[in-house]
Amino acid sequence: MLQEIEIKIKQGYENEYRNGYPLLTQESIEDRSLLRDEGVILNLYCFKNKFIAKAYYGLQNKGYGWLISLDKDEKIDKSFFKKKIYLALKYRASYFSDASTTAFRVFNGEGDGLGGLSIDYYEGYYLLTWYSLGIYEFRDLILDALKESVQYKGIYQKKRFDSKGKYLDEKDDYICGQKAPKSIIVKENNVNFAIHLDDGAMVGVFLDQREVRNIIKTKYADNKNFLNTFSYTGAFSVFAALGGASTTTSVDLAKRSLLKTQEQFEINDIDLDAQEIIVEDVFLYFKYALRKNLEFDMIVLDPPSFARSKKHTFSAAKDYKNLLKETILITKKGGVIVASTNAANFGMMKFREFITKAFKELGGRFEVLESYSLPKDFKVDPKFKEANYLKVVFIKKIK
Ligand code: SAH
Repeated sequence: MLQEIEIKIKQGYENEYRNGYPLLTQESIEDRSLLRDEGVILNLYCFKNKFIAKAYYGLQNKGYGWLISLDKDEKIDKSFFKKKIYLALKYRASYFSDASTTAFRVFNGEGDGLGGLSIDYYEGYYLLTWYSLGIYEFRDLILDALKESVQYKGIYQKKRFDSKGKYLDEKDDYICGQKAPKSIIVKENNVNFAIHLDDGAMVGVFLDQREVRNIIKTKYADNKNFLNTFSYTGAFSVFAALGGASTTTSVDLAKRSLLKTQEQFEINDIDLDAQEIIVEDVFLYFKYALRKNLEFDMIVLDPPSFARSKKHTFSAAKDYKNLLKETILITKKGGVIVASTNAANFGMMKFREFITKAFKELGGRFEVLESYSLPKDFKVDPKFKEANYLKVVFIKKIK
């Protein structure tokens, strides 16, 4: 039996919750000392003692948990989770039937009615990511619900929370079914990707950039001299090469990126001779490229939202504009910059301001060609648009 407690919501917050705002915020809770164990079901009541919603307690970023039902009598049991999964699967039916793409998001947290959990599909394997200890406390119910809802080769997990010593015995990301081979080869618009389900926090590809990769390949890359900064496993470079790029250069600080990028090229039969893979700090590479008068027709700029290297810390909110300036300096006139960020702490307006300022400070001019945010499988709750963190702008450098 799951534990349930009653919690009062401060006056002024109840309407937002009744209208479907899904994040339980710290400041809306009357008496936070009642919250002890994560994973407890919270029945939220307003100051007039009327029921508002059911939530669960789980600490994640700024939130204290997620609302999961507006029905007072809703039982939070296996069939509750099965219903959520059923709807999520139905919403992605076209993805399941598309043989050209075999990796996509199946369940996207509060976008699918249950904050704190995402589920990704990789060619028959399911990967669950738990974002708080609170949601993880429902693990057995959710797993049973998933197993009864899908056919799977195997199920894996990633824990993106600090369990403070709890669950220390679980070292493995493997849960059940077949063990995945070291690399699973999945397809994205008929391009191959190697996925490593059991090799650290990241599996080899960020699925949310699917549309961006595809448009680079089909519309932009032909005959281009292409630079991919913060390249990770080189996913953008692979699509550029397949789209006809004359050369690609991939730059990432992490040593692992070299072999992983080579692997992605090899499984797509791409000639490695025209592809340069450089393990280096991007900030140093920009200086090197400028010194050597290197210029590119197309540059992808996709830094992490926060990063700390030996020399400096980077935060997209603070430093994106300057990074963009360095990028502009080594972009050919008429060339295209793909400016991308997954930083959730600023929106598209602010991002466009960074772009305008960067060009202005250099006395340059630009034109926005097109922009992207999350693809359809990364379903966003219309009441919680801030979850749409991805911002990608294709910019043509005019001057
Ligand atoms: N653009 C990639 C994802 C980038 S993930 C893709 O679409 O697949 C962020 C990457 O930035 C990581 O691989 C990390 O190793 C790298 N990174 C972080 N700081 C860096 C720096 N200063 N220079 C080069 N790479 C860096």
